[in-house]
Amino acid sequence: MNPKDIVKAFFVPKLCNQCDSPPCVQVCPVGATYQTPDGIVLIDRKWCIGCGYCIMSCPYGARFFHPIHKVAEKCTFCFHRLRKGMKTACVDACPFGARLIGNLKDPNDPVTRIVLSQRVAVLKDSFGTKPQVYYLGMDENVR
Ligand code: SF4
Ligand code: SF4
Repeated sequence: MNPKDIVKAFFVPKLCNQCDSPPCVQVCPVGATYQTPDGIVLIDRKWCIGCGYCIMSCPYGARFFHPIHKVAEKCTFCFHRLRKGMKTACVDACPFGARLIGNLKDPNDPVTRIVLSQRVAVLKDSFGTKPQVYYLGMDENVR
């Protein structure tokens, strides 16, 4: 394709959406994929049998098969960092502050205020997965 033919381009980082109603948890036959009480979806490598059901069920393509460990993998929302009160590595690393992380259960959290007061969107809303990753200013065609 000639670059001149591209009239509009988007950059949309797609990560695990930490769905509130996650199909990957529902399909896991051994309970290796689970949700923490604060809503983060994780995989317990000890229990994963590498069946791949969760990879197929994720509408966001967020999971992959680890070729060496033979288990499913995905973004963990830096759970190990959050537990220490730190931000995720991607939020810290972004030089433009394009990413924010907050506690949506806290009405006074700056991220909660943004979600409640601005036009935010989630990916594939119609799938009913209740994604917990919100995008600001995302074009409707991308969703
Ligand atoms: S984005 Fe995919 S892997 Fe992440 S919680 Fe939702 S269904 Fe599971
Ligand atoms: S690959 Fe692992 S985490 Fe995914 S559904 Fe199978 S056992 Fe569960």
